[in-house]
Amino acid sequence: MAPRQVLIALTAQHNGEHENEYFLRRAYIDAIVGAGGIPLILPPLAAGKIETVLDRVQGLVLTGGVDVDPRRYGEQPSEKCGEISPLRDELDLAAAAAALKRDLPLLAICRGIQVLNVALGGSLLQHIPEEVEGALKHRQQAPGWYGTHEVQVEPDTLLAEAVGSGPLVVNSLHHQAVKRLGEGLLVSAVAPDGVVEAVESRRHRFAVGVQWHPELMVEHCPAARAVFAHFLRAAAGTLGD
Ligand code: MN
Repeated sequence: MAPRQVLIALTAQHNGEHENEYFLRRAYIDAIVGAGGIPLILPPLAAGKIETVLDRVQGLVLTGGVDVDPRRYGEQPSEKCGEISPLRDELDLAAAAAALKRDLPLLAICRGIQVLNVALGGSLLQHIPEEVEGALKHRQQAPGWYGTHEVQVEPDTLLAEAVGSGPLVVNSLHHQAVKRLGEGLLVSAVAPDGVVEAVESRRHRFAVGVQWHPELMVEHCPAARAVFAHFLRAAAGTLGD
């Protein structure tokens, strides 16, 4: 029997440099196709229409991008907060809320983990170098496929089920991170400087956020492929089979 066709919505990217475009870096598409899914790019739409799309797919990816507006988590923007896109915030926060409400499998990458945390009432570090003492270099100057720092994956988590517990070397292309943890989330990986590198929900079938970019590492790193494979199993409804 042919495997079920699994449709995965991915939130479109948007920033001021490409003000008149919704786009998505190709690595996200290739990673979903590589794991056996069919990707669909979800652009900014009215919340009701986002729900209509999510009724028809088996999973959602919250993709990377610019910073979340700090006012979304009750803070004023610090001097070192980066670019924000109100359109993108509307899209991602509505899509995250709708996916969580449906218990739709959700993989949240980089900005995505930050959106997931904010959607559940958490807050963010606006600029790691200013807020974390002895911070590692989280904005690597190296190719994206190359891992530059270690994280410790916590046992007995969905992430550990996918990639194993213990040390994992990941890429790092962020300057913000989870601060106050959102409701129902647990930390599933942490960097040696204490920066949260992965979270997951205790209350949902599969709502997993990673601060790194596994989609850029799939050709070089089995653990990166495993993240997408595990997500696709959750979307197909075969997790734990
Ligand atoms: Mn990092």
